[in-house]
Amino acid sequence: MSGTNMLGIHALVWTGEWNTQQAELAVRQTAEAGYALIELPMLDPGAIDVQRVGKAIASAGLSVTCSLGLPFDADISSSNADVRERGEAFLRAGLEASSDVGAALLTGVLYSALGKYTNAPTKAGWKSAAEALTRLADRAQELGVTLGLEIVNRYESNLINTAADALRMIDDIGRPNVVAHLDTYHMNIEEGDFSGPVVRCGDRLGYVHVGESHRGHLGSGVVDFSSLFRTLAYVGYSGPITFESFSSSQAIGELAGTLAVWRGTWDEPFPVAVAARQYLESLLAATAGLRGQGSLKVASAGR
Ligand code: MN
Repeated sequence: MSGTNMLGIHALVWTGEWNTQQAELAVRQTAEAGYALIELPMLDPGAIDVQRVGKAIASAGLSVTCSLGLPFDADISSSNADVRERGEAFLRAGLEASSDVGAALLTGVLYSALGKYTNAPTKAGWKSAAEALTRLADRAQELGVTLGLEIVNRYESNLINTAADALRMIDDIGRPNVVAHLDTYHMNIEEGDFSGPVVRCGDRLGYVHVGESHRGHLGSGVVDFSSLFRTLAYVGYSGPITFESFSSSQAIGELAGTLAVWRGTWDEPFPVAVAARQYLESLLAATAGLRGQGSLKVASAGR
C-alpha cells in the first residue's frame, strides 16, 4: 500500500526488564496500542527465547525489527584485534537472533561502541568497522536481513554522528543491504535541521526513529516533527517510523547509564504510546498531499 508508513514502537517503552515474559508483554501492548511493528533490543540475544517471542509477534500480526549497540570491549572500530574480534562475534550473534525472531532489519550502533568516547575516531578504526560490516552484510544478505546504521550524537559514538558520515560508511561498505537510520533525538543535537539529512539520505534512508529532544512525550520538546514529516513525504519515504522514548520510571539497567536516562519523563507507558501513535498518524495525514512530489521532481529532472 503506497502512501503509508508502518508505525513501530521500541520494546523498552513497555518494560525495563528484558526476558521472554516481558518481551511477550511488550508484544501484546504494542498491538493493543495500535502499532504495526515492535523493535526488540538485541544487546543480549540469550535474554529471550527468540523462537517463542517470534511466534508471539507473528500471531499478534506485528512486524519486527531489532537493534543493538556494541559494548566497548567488543568494538569493531577498536585498535585492538581481540576487541574487534569480539565485536564481530557480538554482531554475528545479534544478526542470527534477529533473523530467528523474524526481523528483516537489524539496526543501531553496529559500527562502534555505544557510549562516550574520549578520543577522536581514527582512519584505521573507520576502515576496521567498514570491513567488519561488509562481512556482516554478506551474511545478512544470505538471511534476507538489511543492516541499518543508526546515526547517533557525539556522546554515544565518535564514528557516525551525521547523515553525511553514515552515507560515507555505506559507500565504503559497498553492499546493497545497508541503509541509513535517522533518529530525531540525535538529529536535534548534530544536524542543522530536520529536512536536509532526509534529502541527503534519499533512497538510502531505510529506518527512522522518532524521539523527542528530552526522550519523553512526543510533541512536548523542541524537535520539529512537522518539518521532518513534510520532508519524509516529499521524498516518498515508505519505510517504518518507530517511536523511541526512555524514562527513568523504567529500570532499563545498564542501558539507562549508557543513554544517560536520569529523569522520569513519564510514569505509565500505555498513554504515552497511544498519544505518540495518534500524533504520528496526524503528522502523516497532514503531509499525505506532499507524498512523492520530491521523487517526481528528481525523476523528471533526470530525463
Ligand atoms: Mn534511536
